[in-house]
Amino acid sequence: MITAIICAAGRGVRAGFAENKVLRERNGMPVLCCSLSAFSQVKEIGEILVVCRKEDEARVLPLLSPYPHARTVVGGNLRTESVYHALNEAKGEIVLVHDAARPFITKKIISDCIASVMEYGSGVCALPATDTTVLTENGFIVSAPDRKNVFTVQTPQGFYKDKLLAAYEKVFEEEREAEFTDESGIYAHYIAPPRLFEGDRRNKKLTFAEDFMPAERVGFGVDTHAFGREQDFITLAGVKIPSRSGLVAHSDGDVLCHALTDALLSAAGLRDIGYYFPDTDETYKDADSMKLLQEALRLVKERGFCPKNASVAVLAETPRLSPYIEEMKQNLANALSLPPSAIGIAAGTNEKLGYVGEGKGITVYATVLLKD
Ligand code: MG
Repeated sequence: MITAIICAAGRGVRAGFAENKVLRERNGMPVLCCSLSAFSQVKEIGEILVVCRKEDEARVLPLLSPYPHARTVVGGNLRTESVYHALNEAKGEIVLVHDAARPFITKKIISDCIASVMEYGSGVCALPATDTTVLTENGFIVSAPDRKNVFTVQTPQGFYKDKLLAAYEKVFEEEREAEFTDESGIYAHYIAPPRLFEGDRRNKKLTFAEDFMPAERVGFGVDTHAFGREQDFITLAGVKIPSRSGLVAHSDGDVLCHALTDALLSAAGLRDIGYYFPDTDETYKDADSMKLLQEALRLVKERGFCPKNASVAVLAETPRLSPYIEEMKQNLANALSLPPSAIGIAAGTNEKLGYVGEGKGITVYATVLLKD
């Protein structure tokens, strides 16, 4: 059996936050949940111990509820103390220690770590240095190690538990717990040189406030509808605009809303408008497309995103749209809970070219920017 020890007992001092940084949300979920999810997908891992501070435990426990084999261990002031507490609780023969502040860990990294422990007795995730590193004294370079021998060490770091625990016991016997920054240093000092395995550049540590900046996602959508419905208006962004003929559609034919709805769904990594609101479904016959837009917005918000701005380009030979643009902007702003200044609508003709130019239909392109 293998135990994953996830270190979540930090204070977020370097990020300048008043709270534990791994409990902060990034992309709609607490940072800690990313590591939990990755380790829970590896079948060899039978136990997950999340080391947290006593005062954070009430916030951590609900995050563990999807994972019956996960529980908390109260950590100490130093990382060394926290890992030591967890090692004393771990039931696994092998332990993998990981920093919760590295949420981009993948199943492959975890599997490579386990494979290294099985083969070499240890597995420390590391990357070849890309910058030149130097040793200094009083601000002057005294030597520069050969870059091919220099690695930056990450987590996870895997070991046989009995050996790592024995090393930790020596650390505490000798009261050197403040000297070591990770398991690999302790193992190297007391047991043997640990084996490195190559990690992944994406497995970076969220350290500073800017690492938590909201992620932005762009989405693109396009839709076309043909004229031919027997009515004297078309509907664009919920505004009825006089026209010699209406747009053919199962719904109200609001081609602008459809393009924008697709852009919104696409930005959040969701499926398209036809998937959620099929035109074979009688529910959506003559549907108010502004309602579909709002329903799509709900789906996007469920994913932890909200729109920042939307930009739309309408290609139509007729009718003339400029008198209606402000009202269309206001409708979209209301639907997306944005100020009208966050909505752009450009309307143009197609210079008599193609189906748009011949007045046979209208095409709309839309982009949306989402933030978390
Ligand atoms: Mg459509």
